[in-house]
Amino acid sequence: MNYDSPYLHPDKEALSREELEALQLQRLQKTVKHCMNSPFYKKRFEEMGLKPEDIKTLDDVRKLPFTTKQDLRDTYPFGIASVPLSECVRLHSSSGTTGNPTVILHTQKDLDEWANAVARCLWMVGLRPDDVFQNSSGYGMFTGGLGFQYGAERLGMLTVPAAAGNTLRQIKFITDFGTTALHAVPSYVTRLYEVMHEKGIDPRKDTKLRVLAIGAEPHSEEQRQRIEQMLGVKAYNSFGMSEMCGPGVAFECKEQNGLHFWEDYYIVEIVNPDTLEPVPDGEIGELVLTTLNREAMPLIRYRTRDLTRVLGRTCPCGRNHVRLDRMRGRSDDMIVLRGVNIFPIQIEKILMQYPELGSNYLITLTTDDDNDNMTVEVEIAEFADDYGMLQNLTKQVTRALKDEILLTPHVKLVPKGSLPVSEGKAVRVVDKRKVYQ
Ligand code: AMP
Ligand code: ZN
Repeated sequence: MNYDSPYLHPDKEALSREELEALQLQRLQKTVKHCMNSPFYKKRFEEMGLKPEDIKTLDDVRKLPFTTKQDLRDTYPFGIASVPLSECVRLHSSSGTTGNPTVILHTQKDLDEWANAVARCLWMVGLRPDDVFQNSSGYGMFTGGLGFQYGAERLGMLTVPAAAGNTLRQIKFITDFGTTALHAVPSYVTRLYEVMHEKGIDPRKDTKLRVLAIGAEPHSEEQRQRIEQMLGVKAYNSFGMSEMCGPGVAFECKEQNGLHFWEDYYIVEIVNPDTLEPVPDGEIGELVLTTLNREAMPLIRYRTRDLTRVLGRTCPCGRNHVRLDRMRGRSDDMIVLRGVNIFPIQIEKILMQYPELGSNYLITLTTDDDNDNMTVEVEIAEFADDYGMLQNLTKQVTRALKDEILLTPHVKLVPKGSLPVSEGKAVRVVDKRKVYQ
């Protein structure tokens, strides 16, 4: 197989572990050498007394320094680049809530590889050139827009750049153009379904939808199953991040047994976030990624802050690219309430077990009389005015949440459509706690 073929066809990714690892080492050595062109990495490597020749085995990746989001901010905008700006053709930038945004630069080859990676993911779940692919991501700086656009086009599908929002128009495109595959953030799919329902459109009968790519935000298995049942589709988890191009980093195969991370594109490590030592397979830790085929801006051992674990390195689908569990969330999203660590996804998992509840929820943290409290507001699925039933349901949900998070939240069932819906990633937590100095 020609590993460096400019277009690795998506049906040819079933390398053996040995082949994959040999390719990774070759690409890692090349990457480290190339990073000497980056003022940032050159300085870092020199400070550590590290030379590209020191990378002799794949395990030597552990000799390399970590890169953090703060490094990207500190070198804003172009300080990490390994090629001159004249060789770059695009940038994507994500705005941080504090400090500088981060910028990722791309050469034309980077964009081509990115499109190939996304095409490979979509091919893996059975999409072919006769499918019609609609993308409901925001275009522009958000990488879910252009990332899926070019990937779907690369595969040869008719691609509809519907962009985010305008749900009625979105539905019209789905029905008029015979959309068979849709990319959407999971929290938006529910909104889409509700509007279809209101307009008397049955997605199973009145649309040709059969595959959904859902991702960009954490979601539970229960949420995925809901989406599949609502729309009568298969919904595949799609993982990506701007620092690693965007979508196309990892995707579920038809087995739906974890995310295949493309190891010819990335070295995947899971480390203990405190000690930064590797954790054994199966144990949860922080995902650390090293890019293997980036020209403009290779990143070495990038600390993603996403928490997950290795599920396996083989798969009944025949692909041997490592399988990771769905993300628990980011370490920065973890709520610490009265000393207890809680991930929003734990709450979602419980809420989704009740068919009477909708999919939209909001967690608010407050300080009342010097005590920190959590309120979980969740929409009910259908209009209900049976006070006894609602009271009983509230009690049941409160108890189930307490069993999961070990604290008793204040549960409020609210009418359908009353919580805010964002066009991009959902905002699930509002923290209004007093901070004591
Ligand atoms: P951005 O760079 O703004 O696209 O955000 C990337 C982040 O979104 C990742 O680091 C994850 O925290 C989150 N993310 C993306 N895809 C998924 C997914 N499938 N499941 C859970 N979180 C995801
Ligand atoms: Zn598989």
